[in-house]
Amino acid sequence: MQIENNKVVTLNYTLKDNDGNILDKSDDGTFVYLHGAMNIIPGLENALAGKASGDDLSVSVSPEEGYGVRDDSRVQQVPKNMFENGSDIQVGMQFHAQGQNGEVLVVTVADVLEDEVVVDANHPLAGKELNFDVTVVEIRDASAEELEHGHVHGPGGHQH
Ligand code: ZN
Repeated sequence: MQIENNKVVTLNYTLKDNDGNILDKSDDGTFVYLHGAMNIIPGLENALAGKASGDDLSVSVSPEEGYGVRDDSRVQQVPKNMFENGSDIQVGMQFHAQGQNGEVLVVTVADVLEDEVVVDANHPLAGKELNFDVTVVEIRDASAEELEHGHVHGPGGHQH
């Protein structure tokens, strides 16, 4: 079986930046995604098309095909008193915020000033080139329900 749209794929992977730092990894067969449903970044999904179980591949993904380029307009200063525990805010903390269209954003505290907090709504991996070492562990057909929902159910997927 090969990876193509509507297949559920289990991957082991290591993600490194260009300096060789490990940013993320999964090596126990618990990472699953539905191919063709935009569950993972386009650069990785495209590289996996046509691969078979047991295949190893190394993929470098540009920011445009990854988590996007950094957008400085997504960095904002907000008053500290907008946070419940304003005095405990530290650089690197992450919060959920609401975007202009009601979408949920994850913002990261980039700096803490006297009365204001600098928050960055860019994805933490935006602007980074991503280097994946991937092993394809397993491929199976998606169920009708998984296709309808656009994601994987069961172990490693949505439980509902
Ligand atoms: Zn579902």
